[in-house]
Amino acid sequence: MPATKLTVPFYGHVRQYHNIKAEIDANIKEVLESGQYVLGPMLKKFEAELAEFHGTRYAIGVGNGTDALWLTFKALGIGPGDECITTTNTFFATAEAIWFTGATVVFVDSDPRTNCIDPSKIEAAITPRTKLLVPVHLYGQCADMKAIRKIADKHNLKVVEDNAQAIGARGNGFKIGELSDAATVSFIIQKNLGTFGDGGAIVTNNPEIDRIARKLRNHGSDKRSCHSIGYNSRLDDLHAGILSAKLKHIAEWSELRRKWAALYSQGLATAKNITLPYETPGYYHVYHLYVIETRQAKHRDPLLQFLNDAGIDAKCHYPIAIHQQEGYPWGHGARISGAIPNSERNAACCISLPMFPELTEEQVDYTVDKVLEWDRSAR
Ligand SMILES: *Cc1c(COP(=O)(O)O)cnc(C)c1O
Repeated sequence: MPATKLTVPFYGHVRQYHNIKAEIDANIKEVLESGQYVLGPMLKKFEAELAEFHGTRYAIGVGNGTDALWLTFKALGIGPGDECITTTNTFFATAEAIWFTGATVVFVDSDPRTNCIDPSKIEAAITPRTKLLVPVHLYGQCADMKAIRKIADKHNLKVVEDNAQAIGARGNGFKIGELSDAATVSFIIQKNLGTFGDGGAIVTNNPEIDRIARKLRNHGSDKRSCHSIGYNSRLDDLHAGILSAKLKHIAEWSELRRKWAALYSQGLATAKNITLPYETPGYYHVYHLYVIETRQAKHRDPLLQFLNDAGIDAKCHYPIAIHQQEGYPWGHGARISGAIPNSERNAACCISLPMFPELTEEQVDYTVDKVLEWDRSAR
């Protein structure tokens, strides 16, 4: 047991940069020397690599993960009068992107174990106006896409996977992007594949989504000087170069995340006052976040404080669910279908322990020891 106090940060961005500095610097230099910085050859190269990685026909680089969602929804024709179903325990952007189309966000409860959307709650939320399902692969684990696909087929709905958190994850016999119209990715630095700033992408097998999204991201233009109303949301070539270098390492980084998650789960197995993350059998969870829950909501803030005081930068994802945010339901906004006790419990009890590939065994052991120390004294 380490006796001395350690510092355990939440992210390892600089460590990661130093580990592959030569590859990143070479790509940055290549872009700078090329003279082509927007919609240039490096973006094209990265889009091809990203499509190959997902096994999809197309990948479209855009400004960020929120735009990736919103532009996909626009490409699918989602707009005012439509309803889109998702969950409240996700990053705010999932609902925000739906809201931006003018459609109504409809929240259903999440599965009590995975915290992803609970497919058994979806059908009760469907109305004649429902157009779209937006499952979120929360914390790095796929939602139950086989069940979601069945519901979508039965009710003739579109499906867009919000895959900001789970690049490289897999389900039991399905890949991300395979059972939906499109999946979206975020490359903001803290995501599993993160650039030094903002970025995003859409992956799809649908040529129409590809064609429309490409136009939308570039002022509605696919031909010089010809426009329809679109937007400016492109992935810069510099970011594409950084991401191209990092993509080669994502499989090895996912394995490291899984290694640290297994160590946490092993070490914390005897703790009485918390529950550990659930891995759906046969799924490949990539642990964007390692989220434990206190069994009692009153324990969450004291445990978080205890860890922070011990030098461990634990956080909460997400302590305020979307329907608990200021201004809800925002004008044309949103409604909740049924009760959502699981999403509310998740918001009240969640704690994210530090999780990034460059963690050390000493840091993980120290964090386990501190959680167990708190657990023994919890009342
Ligand atoms: C990060 C995130 C987004 C938004 O991505 P940005 O690149 O920050 O715009 C959307 N949905 C989820 C679930 C996310 O975690």
